[in-house]
Amino acid sequence: MPVVKVSRRGANRLEDGHAWVYRSDIVDANGVAPGALVAVADEHEKPLGSALYSSASQIAIRMISTAAVNDLSPLLRKRMQEAIAYREPIVRDTDAYRIVFSEADFLPGLIVDRYNDLISLQVLTQAMDTEGARQAILAELSEGLKPQAIVERVDPRVRELEQLPARSSSLLQGEKKSTVITMNGVRFHHDALEGQKTGAFLDQRENYAAAAQYARGEALDVFCYHGGFALHLAQQCSKVTGVDSSRPALEDADRNAELNGRNIEWIEANAFDLLRDYASAGQHYDAIVLDPPAFAKNKSSLETALRGYKELNLRALKMLRPGGILVTCSCSYHVSPTDFLQVVIQAAQDTRRTVRLLESRTQAKDHPILLAVAETAYLKCLILTVS
Ligand code: SAH
Repeated sequence: MPVVKVSRRGANRLEDGHAWVYRSDIVDANGVAPGALVAVADEHEKPLGSALYSSASQIAIRMISTAAVNDLSPLLRKRMQEAIAYREPIVRDTDAYRIVFSEADFLPGLIVDRYNDLISLQVLTQAMDTEGARQAILAELSEGLKPQAIVERVDPRVRELEQLPARSSSLLQGEKKSTVITMNGVRFHHDALEGQKTGAFLDQRENYAAAAQYARGEALDVFCYHGGFALHLAQQCSKVTGVDSSRPALEDADRNAELNGRNIEWIEANAFDLLRDYASAGQHYDAIVLDPPAFAKNKSSLETALRGYKELNLRALKMLRPGGILVTCSCSYHVSPTDFLQVVIQAAQDTRRTVRLLESRTQAKDHPILLAVAETAYLKCLILTVS
């Protein structure tokens, strides 16, 4: 087994339960092959466990066990069984949810989502892309879950960063490429090889249901994508409008509305322009959802991101009728829950309205937050009421 030696700082990080050691904290990784299973030790040769090595990423090793591991495949299969079992008591009212969430399930570099009878997987590291790992993952998924099909979703940018050969998204097993999923009683078409991420924003599932609990009257879902919030709001609201800049996303949203027998208005627009125009035209709503894409992709874009969130939240707060509900989200890991709350507080101050926090929420429980790995917590969702 090749050995990777880490600095004192790297060792401390691992002893605190984190899964990553950055390249700057690697003391010795001579001759270690890309994607290898390695034994990890500190500078005094004290064993720290086993990890998966990447020759390309700044995250040089990702821990897979605090024990010595000789054979990766059985461990991968055991971890997948544990991930499936973990979700059994906590996932409710859905046939679409995340089965494996990378580090949070001690399977760093692997994402697996279930969409009813289809499974979608994404490989993010050299180690998970090795033939042995792929075979173990596929075997466990097909034997353990017996899906109609298994699809691989490729993020070309990730493969490039990991210096992996290009590959396209494709069916790995079975024939079926589309299905219908049901969450909280709402149905969605799912095309396994289309759309963003692995196809749906499963991490918002519990927030959809929470938003629908409070929203009434006229609702606006800004950054609506396939209509996740809009379709849930339509259960309670008299009129729902969804806004997105992507025409294909809105076409899918409209198919979903039809599937659920709902009448929703879809508007193709830049959300910033639309909110500015609507706010200055004196347009009002009883409920507004803001679920923008990650504005801060890294630390250096934090300031710009915060300005973006402030502007959106300010305009939305201004447009809410007394008693109105704002559901405001941020999926940027680099924007901390405190930063995000602060931005919303500032927006509320600028409107001089009374704003109360009903709920401070996060990602759905099938996207576990591992306390020792802060990066696993990324989604913020505040539900506020304005008087
Ligand atoms: N709320 C959605 C997820 C939103 S993802 C859900 O629950 O499924 C972010 C969406 O914002 C994407 O659909 C993207 O097309 C859209 N988007 C990105 N920039 C935009 C902009 N400036 N104006 C409007 N929509 C935008």
